[in-house]
Amino acid sequence: MQYFGKIILLVCDGMADRQVKELGDKTPLEYAETPNMDELAEKGVTGLMDPIAPGVPPSSDTAHLAIFGYDPEKEYPGRGLFEAAGYGYKISDDEVAFRCNFSTVRKRDNELIVVDRRAGRISGDEAEALAKELQKIDEIDGVKVRFVHTLEHRGFLILKGEGLSANITDSDPHEVGAPVLESVPLESAVDFEAVQKTAQIVNKFVLQTFSVLNTHPINVERIKHGKLPANIVLPRGAGKRIKLENFEERWGMKPACVAAGPLYRGVAFELGFKLIDVEGATGLPNTNIKGKFEAAVNALENYDFVFIHIKGTDTLSHSKDAKGKAEMISRIDNALPIIMDTIKEGATFVLTADHTTPCSIGIHSGDPVPLLITGPNIRRDFVKNFDEISVVRGGLHRIRGKELMNILLDMTHRAPEYGLRPSPKHVRYLPKIWNALKLNE
Ligand code: ZN
Ligand code: ZN
Repeated sequence: MQYFGKIILLVCDGMADRQVKELGDKTPLEYAETPNMDELAEKGVTGLMDPIAPGVPPSSDTAHLAIFGYDPEKEYPGRGLFEAAGYGYKISDDEVAFRCNFSTVRKRDNELIVVDRRAGRISGDEAEALAKELQKIDEIDGVKVRFVHTLEHRGFLILKGEGLSANITDSDPHEVGAPVLESVPLESAVDFEAVQKTAQIVNKFVLQTFSVLNTHPINVERIKHGKLPANIVLPRGAGKRIKLENFEERWGMKPACVAAGPLYRGVAFELGFKLIDVEGATGLPNTNIKGKFEAAVNALENYDFVFIHIKGTDTLSHSKDAKGKAEMISRIDNALPIIMDTIKEGATFVLTADHTTPCSIGIHSGDPVPLLITGPNIRRDFVKNFDEISVVRGGLHRIRGKELMNILLDMTHRAPEYGLRPSPKHVRYLPKIWNALKLNE
């Protein structure tokens, strides 16, 4: 029982779905070949989980925060902070970070209309050269400005100065054919002066990127070759540092993260997870699943809680590729025996998704996700298949994302009896119980 008390959490991003016509009215998870997931369902306990709340479509970062036992209502710094962290940029207290896209817009009267949110998926040297040009915008209204290109058409923007706020709306309308939006204060914002100031700077930045990029020789050349020009940068998801308690402090477990997607690495990094790199882990459907699972198993040696993230299932859902999604789920299933060996040795394993991304609509929805927990201290239910429909009859019934950590603490005997409160921190190892359980093996 060398892994007793250790936890592996596998989150397949956007894996949950609805019935799809072309899959014979099954969900991709029902349709996929998943003998291992089914075996785990049979041995474990299952149910549904609303990552945030019933009917609320979660973003990936808020869903992960909730699953890690944080309250996105009160403990959400904004996505920009996580994205920047995912690229290794730890923003300081006086900075606001935004995710950005190079986009294509055309002028219509006084408006800029979005033609393509990804500027024909511009990437490589061209994007890098345009980013360099934008780095000449280094100050607006006394605030330091820095634009950094990351992957493909993406980048982030950092504003640095006194009295800035992240409580502002996106410039990106998230929709083709819609006008670029003026950033304004969020309705909930109370830091009024800072919000006004920050929104104004963002609006100026967006217009400046258009004037720098629209006639840039690279874009002139792109148009000549029938490509879309990257003639604007659209910021979204403002984020600013807030006090986020360390995962280990909160839950008494040393955490590690096996993920390639920058957002997930960023969330984990900000909560104090050790980031583990894996060769061939891409954050894309072609990722090295086996390599990730092996790395996670190795990490159990030194860490108590190992989080594995697989992004491809969500990516295929956004491109409405139900067959591809089902295939990817089968590939994940095929690699599961690597993890299943640790369960035999006492590890607790959790399999779930961070939200539903129905292939029929290609965006996140508020449907609950299937959840499976298996390990040495489980009260089994009758469910023998792991999919959205079968787990409706599961013993966990329907929980919220933020309740998962408590259940895991209990299942690994880390939770003291309610009311006893043996220490100011409600989470502590209970070695006596552990030893007793081990003796019974
Ligand atoms: Zn997600
Ligand atoms: Zn998604």
